Amino acid sequence: MGGCVFCNIVRGVEEAYRVYEDDVVVVILDKYPVSEGHLLVITRRHYRGVEDAEPRAAAHAFTVASALARIYRERLGAPGVNVVTNSGRPAGQVIFHFHVHVIPRWHSGGPMWSPRHTLTPGEAERVTSRLKPHLGLVSEYLSRAGLGD
Ligand SMILES: [Zn+2]
Repeated sequence: MGGCVFCNIVRGVEEAYRVYEDDVVVVILDKYPVSEGHLLVITRRHYRGVEDAEPRAAAHAFTVASALARIYRERLGAPGVNVVTNSGRPAGQVIFHFHVHVIPRWHSGGPMWSPRHTLTPGEAERVTSRLKPHLGLVSEYLSRAGLGD
């Protein structure tokens, strides 16, 4: 899977802003966020889409995404959040390595996937430092789901 950008990010060959990682997933900031704080939960193992993922890996990714959604809604004041995975080109999948989007919504309305902007280092720093104090909730969710180490 040498050509897979997410495999390269997982291995550290390709750069990304990482906000969380464990044995199963790595959470990064989307390079072209739909909104400030747009995250991608990526499995360490390469699965083409959600239907190929081991059920336990899919459960792990969605549990992490749920915890992040809760952090955005309850702790960081986002009035909305999308948690979604796209599988297959007609569904809007662009990178064929299973990932779950967590997209906080700070404003009402607007289309689902646009407009996207290019992530800046300042924005990355802002998002990372806002999330950091709350990431304990991710481990808590995993252990409550029976998915902790
Ligand atoms: Zn991959």
